[in-house]
Amino acid sequence: MIGIVGGGIAGLAAAYRLQQRGHDVRVFEAADQLGGLAATYETAGDDIEQFYHHLSKSEQTIVDLAAELGLEERIEWRVGTNGYYVDGVVHPLDTPWEILAYPHMSLYDKFRLGMLTQGIDVRGLVPDFDAYDDLAEYEHVTVREFVEEHTTKSVYENFVDPLLDGKYGDRKNDISAAWFLGRVRFRGERDLLRGEILGYFDGGFGVLLDALVDAVGRENITTGAPVTDLTVADGRVQSLTVDAEGGGSVHDVDAAVVATMPNVLESLTGYTCEIDFQGAICGLVTMEESLLDTYWLNVAHDAPFGALIEHTNFVERERYGGDHLLYVASYVQDADEELWRMDDDEVRETWLAEIESMFPDFDRDSITQFRIARNPRAAPIYECGYRDLVVPYHLDEGVGEDVYYAGMASAAQYPERSLNGGVVAGYEVADRIDASLKAEPER
Ligand SMILES: Cc1cc2nc3c(=O)[nH]c(=O)nc-3n(C[C@H](O)[C@H](O)[C@H](O)COP(=O)(O)OP(=O)(O)OC[C@H]3O[C@@H](n4cnc5c(N)ncnc54)[C@H](O)[C@@H]3O)c2cc1C
Repeated sequence: MIGIVGGGIAGLAAAYRLQQRGHDVRVFEAADQLGGLAATYETAGDDIEQFYHHLSKSEQTIVDLAAELGLEERIEWRVGTNGYYVDGVVHPLDTPWEILAYPHMSLYDKFRLGMLTQGIDVRGLVPDFDAYDDLAEYEHVTVREFVEEHTTKSVYENFVDPLLDGKYGDRKNDISAAWFLGRVRFRGERDLLRGEILGYFDGGFGVLLDALVDAVGRENITTGAPVTDLTVADGRVQSLTVDAEGGGSVHDVDAAVVATMPNVLESLTGYTCEIDFQGAICGLVTMEESLLDTYWLNVAHDAPFGALIEHTNFVERERYGGDHLLYVASYVQDADEELWRMDDDEVRETWLAEIESMFPDFDRDSITQFRIARNPRAAPIYECGYRDLVVPYHLDEGVGEDVYYAGMASAAQYPERSLNGGVVAGYEVADRIDASLKAEPER
């Protein structure tokens, strides 16, 4: 049997692929609910993710997985409109004429930024269309150095810096240009006349998780079952110890996949990972009235959230019993930050006071429910040199034979962590295990 630690998308994808290749698997999930960071809430209609989620057009593996599970028709590609809140005004930034009308950048700055987002270096006499293809070249350059050199200082200061600040706060000067370029490339697909194209499942991502669970078989998955030990002897993994209700149990395994954050890997195996993580606090506000005209609103000033995301400006509210759903998204760089130390009531009050000052017409009486999800390790801090810190899929050297890692610190989750990256990581380890066990069938 192959033991899998973690029932998020990566662990479930690994289990699914291994089963397809004829292996017995068992998934152990610490929480009562499966799905990890993609876990959902109930609404008056479809379930919705506790942390906002959508797909980017470049993500093919998850689309292929959905098709295998009979869900191809459930993926919907929609326009996710964007806006930027600057000095009390929301500027929509979807169509070419909206971008041209944006008053806080010159035409020349818009041209330079536009070329960069198209992957074209226009600094020389002849435009270079391949200049940004090799992300590794920019691994040790900060976003600031890169944007200032490849566009203009004012593009950085007036456009990029506030976005970076909203996401990375006091770590913004550590972030690598490779991440920035990767992210531009990762998202990037636009309908010229309408805006960015993003994907969502009819019914939410819970539909995909449910189908994966059905495919793996509920009987092969145990929830409320934290793995507390991974035993290695003679250089090979032997067993997983699981702390389940009614007493612990030890499970002999032929291979083990750790599909969790790297701190759990360290506690189970001693393998250390130097990647720093940022935490997220994400509110889901159910409202009788809409707040925004866009799906995604970035905020240029120093607000207690990085973005406001009105999900029901992306997916029609009829799917949620007619309610309007708004995410309030904040990232924190360490546990000492004031917002992280606040309790949920204080966070809610801080956010609402800011929303009221930004939108004087907003009426908090239209709120019918306010739920807050927190996670201390919501995303890696993609600092310069990040790629050297990635945890390998096979931990034969650091831990022992037949121990594999598919969590968020794996190479598949670079340059941006995503559900697609989780599926890729799960597949990567499954393929390695399959090849290894088939090469030594007597085990
Ligand atoms: C705010 C936010 C927004 C996001 N937006 C998007 C988006 O728009 N699009 C997108 O594709 N992705 C998005 N993501 C990223 C996406 O959610 C993650 O990349 C993905 O869910 C990671 O899956 P995973 O299986 O690697 O890890 P996780 O989901 O963290 O799963 C790990 C699981 O392991 C379990 N576990 C931990 N310790 C143990 C133990 N000892 N024993 C057993 N189980 C254990 C945990 O409970 C958890 O369920 C977002 C994430 C956040 C936080």
